[in-house]
Amino acid sequence: MKLEECLKRADETKELILKKNALEEIPAMLDAFFPANSGVCLVSDEHTHKAAGARVEEILKKAGINIAGSHIFPGEPRLHAEYSHVTFLKDWISSLPDWKNLVPVSVGAGTVNDLLKCTSSELKIRYMSVPTASSVDGFTPNGAALLLDGFKQTVPCPAPLVVVADIDVIAGAPAYLASSGFGDLASKIIAGTDWIIAEKAGSAGAMEAPAIDEIAWAMIQPGLLDALNNSINASRGDGDAIKILFESLAITGFAMQHYKDARPVAGSEHLFSHVWEMEDLSFNGVPVTHGHKVAIGTLAATAFTELFFADPKGPPEVPKGFTRPTKAERKAATEAAFKGSRACSRLAETAVNKMMDDKTVDAINQTFRDSWKEMRGRILERLLPYSELKRLMVRADCPNQPETIGLTLNDVIITARKAQMMRNKYTILDLAFDMGNFEGILAKIEASDIYLR
Ligand SMILES: [Zn+2]
Repeated sequence: MKLEECLKRADETKELILKKNALEEIPAMLDAFFPANSGVCLVSDEHTHKAAGARVEEILKKAGINIAGSHIFPGEPRLHAEYSHVTFLKDWISSLPDWKNLVPVSVGAGTVNDLLKCTSSELKIRYMSVPTASSVDGFTPNGAALLLDGFKQTVPCPAPLVVVADIDVIAGAPAYLASSGFGDLASKIIAGTDWIIAEKAGSAGAMEAPAIDEIAWAMIQPGLLDALNNSINASRGDGDAIKILFESLAITGFAMQHYKDARPVAGSEHLFSHVWEMEDLSFNGVPVTHGHKVAIGTLAATAFTELFFADPKGPPEVPKGFTRPTKAERKAATEAAFKGSRACSRLAETAVNKMMDDKTVDAINQTFRDSWKEMRGRILERLLPYSELKRLMVRADCPNQPETIGLTLNDVIITARKAQMMRNKYTILDLAFDMGNFEGILAKIEASDIYLR
């Protein structure tokens, strides 16, 4: 689906300017979409202020627009999406004169944008986003990914009213930010296969397993492979590749605005990254970006899905004598897996709540056995084979082995178990768990010399 059409389906963002010299359009956008404004307040960090914030200030001053304040977060250590920054920004903005009529403008990558998105929502004012990198799909959705009580959560909040993305600014961002965006875009492959799986499981009674929404699907899935292939050179500052990458990521956010949930854009691969976000994963002292974590999560989920659907005859064998765990066993296993985490008891509660009764689980399993040929065909049609996905990641300078983000194969295996426990959202991990072949697939990944190597 074309960008204009996707924008029409998004009910919160009214305009996306994506072109060279887009910054020059900010005054006109303020006029057109925030007519009653008494000026702006800007939020950036030291890097993004240098990359675009200073220029935005110049443009605003030249246009005679009041800049009521400008908050610049330190560049180092890298800014985290901690809720405490939202509390700070709320106090800061509401201390500015006539703040209810100001337009907050975020000039930055994903974190600055998410912080101001949540802040604006809590202050009940709309904001403008000026992205400085195509690093993440989080610029346009109606939610902000924030760390709250040690737990990465998507806090519901309105999307930016207007997004002004300057291709020259974005092309000038460090390469790792573009490859992060590439990783986040690649994750939509698994978001798609997991949705196919969820829909089928949902038809047999699974929880949190909705039917596919044709519009959200049409926005993201049909053009996904082309978008990935055409954005490979984004990390090398190629303007055309940057444009495609940014636009594709923005559209995934519009699909969320349309669908009002992350199902169209995130599946099991994001659950891996959520675990590493909770654990504050760093490599050589530098926090690993969301998109780089998602890239490895996407490889892991692809390996898992490929192995699950490998046999044309039917699902992987269940070990002899397998029995599903009781609720008490599940609670104990989850508490052990997340021991030391502030969110431990909450996660254990989720893992227990998502357990279905035996009758439902049997019905889901039977549905997949009965429709194996059809389901396998649909999944393999969408799933990019692991070898091809890895080749794409290599070409896009994206992390493509656990070690490239400071993890081992064993870490990823342990993460898969946690990923299955942590959210009530039906994915391939739940299907394998319910069918009794979850551990068997992990063992196959460990024994292979292809997957996650
Ligand atoms: Zn993401």
